Amino acid sequence: MKKIGIDVGGTAVKIGYFIDGSLIECKRYAQIDSLDAFRELLMHSDITSFIDNSFIGAGVGVPGVVDGNCVQDCPNIKWLEKIDVVKVLADSLGDHYKYKLDNDANVAALGESVAGAGVNHPSFAFITIGTGIGGGLIVDGNIYHGPGGMAGEIGHIGTGHSLACNCGAIGCVEAIASASNIEKRAHGKPLPDIIEAAKGGDNDSIQLLKESGTALGEVISQIALLLDIRVFVFGGGGAPCLEMWQPHINKVIDSRCFGRSADDFTVIQASLGNEAGVCGAAALLG
Ligand SMILES: [Zn+2]
Repeated sequence: MKKIGIDVGGTAVKIGYFIDGSLIECKRYAQIDSLDAFRELLMHSDITSFIDNSFIGAGVGVPGVVDGNCVQDCPNIKWLEKIDVVKVLADSLGDHYKYKLDNDANVAALGESVAGAGVNHPSFAFITIGTGIGGGLIVDGNIYHGPGGMAGEIGHIGTGHSLACNCGAIGCVEAIASASNIEKRAHGKPLPDIIEAAKGGDNDSIQLLKESGTALGEVISQIALLLDIRVFVFGGGGAPCLEMWQPHINKVIDSRCFGRSADDFTVIQASLGNEAGVCGAAALLG
């Protein structure tokens, strides 16, 4: 059985080719900056030569709000907005295959669930720390979308500080703990350097990681209080901060999570890296 997982990103599209559930190859295609270029990519010989009698379809992850088969808001990839992606796939590859579309953070969470750090955890929250903070909830092995389809917008949970977020609200965890915002507050110092400086005793770096880690601890506690989820998987470029965040996260959990302590929680790094998107996209097909 063959299928493909498509991860549409701001600078490139990645496509994973799967045979009998195993990722055979993951290819990156740059300069996909229009719907026409995306259609052309779907007609590329890499894909058309892969398709045979055992092909079942394609799953797609996009960095935007998804409503059924359509992309609604997609601030970083404007050409995707209001596009019926399932129809584009059916027109390009054939309408007798199965196609599924979902938000990229949900898809990455599903990827970690089926093939990464979440394999042994039926229910967990995936938190991706990058330019912003994205999230996906896996409940009993499935993505939890919520009635309106927007569940898991973890980055915009309020954590009581006074910094403004890109979404227009004040106090979102993203404004204090995304990789970009930590670097901005460190006057442009790259995150790996901030981590090293903190390990070396630099007070400003220690303070930045304390504030961001504490805010993430608040978010973890709120999710745990609401859903009793106790496993949290961190992905994205900011995930290596987890080692420095852990004591602050544990402290907040111990003080905020009624009936539970930090020992009851598993807070770990994602393990699929750049392949989470294509693995999760392919897993949308089941
Ligand atoms: Zn926000």
